[in-house]
Amino acid sequence: MRRLEELHFINSYARLPAGFHSRIQPQPLAAPRLAASNPQAAALIDLSPEELARPQFSACLNGEWLPPGAEPLAAVYAGHQFGQYVPQLGDGRAILLGEVEAESGRWELQLKGAGITPYSRRGDGRAVLRSTIREYLCSEAMHGLGIPTTRALALIDSEEEVYRESIERGAVLLRMAPSHLRFGHFEFFYYRNDPEALRILGDYALREHFPHLLGEADPFMRLFEEVTARTAELMAHWQLVGFAHGVMNTDNMSLLGLTIDYGPFGFLDAYDPDHICNHSDVAGRYAFGAQPRVGGWNLSRLGQALMPLFEGEPGEAAERANAALKGYESAFQRAYAEGMNAKLGLISLREGDGELAKRLLRQMHADRVDYTRLFRALGALRLEAPESDGPLRDQFLNREAFDAWAADYRARLRAEGSEDAQRRAAMDAVNPKYILRNHLAQRAIELAEQERDYTEIERLHQLLQRPFDEQPAMEAYAAEPPEWAEELAISCSS
Ligand code: AMP
Ligand code: MG
Repeated sequence: MRRLEELHFINSYARLPAGFHSRIQPQPLAAPRLAASNPQAAALIDLSPEELARPQFSACLNGEWLPPGAEPLAAVYAGHQFGQYVPQLGDGRAILLGEVEAESGRWELQLKGAGITPYSRRGDGRAVLRSTIREYLCSEAMHGLGIPTTRALALIDSEEEVYRESIERGAVLLRMAPSHLRFGHFEFFYYRNDPEALRILGDYALREHFPHLLGEADPFMRLFEEVTARTAELMAHWQLVGFAHGVMNTDNMSLLGLTIDYGPFGFLDAYDPDHICNHSDVAGRYAFGAQPRVGGWNLSRLGQALMPLFEGEPGEAAERANAALKGYESAFQRAYAEGMNAKLGLISLREGDGELAKRLLRQMHADRVDYTRLFRALGALRLEAPESDGPLRDQFLNREAFDAWAADYRARLRAEGSEDAQRRAAMDAVNPKYILRNHLAQRAIELAEQERDYTEIERLHQLLQRPFDEQPAMEAYAAEPPEWAEELAISCSS
């Protein structure tokens, strides 16, 4: 375990040529105060947990003191936002402190909300406490669910006024990922018609993050295929757990297939494929059910940007890239079908299983059944005791429809000799009991905003690290959301 001063910085991104980034110092907030810190994430960079309590640690989040070896910079990227190409975005309020080599691998340490950078456009470079708490909690909740994500090391609150729809307080999140590379990094150089820089970026990505592809024939096609595979996995995870990202622009798509840039995200309460969690998304481009398709569209933007790096005739390369995109669709379908069967406690994958799941989801949609609670409750179903279905069928308005479905489900379970206790244990390991519902995050936010009381952040963090375990003292956190939860408007402004 290391002290802050002993972190082993290697900073590969900083070694890229000048046009890739700008050196920039973080700008401190007034009266910073550590609001949350995460020993599990600290362990990933070999940082001793006691270090989190040192004044230097908060000072590091506030950019007043940086560990030796840090080389802060903001990276440039571009992206398709709501379908429109925006030629220059970039780290507008994120500052990469550097990249640390640790036992568990390499981690970029990034401050979010640390002030204006050359890529801030009209923004103030700040992040508000509300959205910072949401990102801190959700990235760790996703990790608890086993979903690839950036991680959160800590967050500071402050007394800095930040202007959004109303005056809020500024905060900074220290997040970590093996790489924060986005599809948009490649688009930036492709659309600027700068093939040399594009190749430097491609070589960098291969060397530092996909080294197993070095030496393969047509390595950038392999890279593209691997990104399609990782994105398919990620989309299946999101759909299976009921997570809506809210702003799936190509600048928010991770090359490593991580969930990145938590903004107006939301977990489904009632099952609804048309659910739009981002109130700024009037057309529903990023509605829950649209995500797998959008993932494919975004991948085709990445494939376009990588075209100059593919080997062979452009026509042939385009054909291979299109085949990779078809592969994305089938990989998603496969991962989703397997995941859904696991949620239903089915061991084998049989003809008709997809239809069985769809029928259940259709009825859940029609009756506005809570997605998380229903699957968790389904695990307690007893194969030979339909009379004990009460609590389950009571979640539906149309109970006859549920009974008919449950009869077919039982038949399917019997066909593979399903055993109650075994099935329940397997289902409980994939159907979470606890998710970060908006209203739960909202309570932690209000306490922090109004009382500077951060205990609810910690409580939720602890809870959501083990979302599949029964935690009897925390039963209330698994309850149906209150009615006011539906009124919570989550916009892009963060
Ligand atoms: P997002 O959709 O939040 O991922 O942000 C899209 C782009 O806007 C990124 O380039 C961000 O860095 C930038 N951005 C968002 N909010 C701010 C802000 N308050 N100040 C500066 N840049 C911002
Ligand atoms: Mg973003």
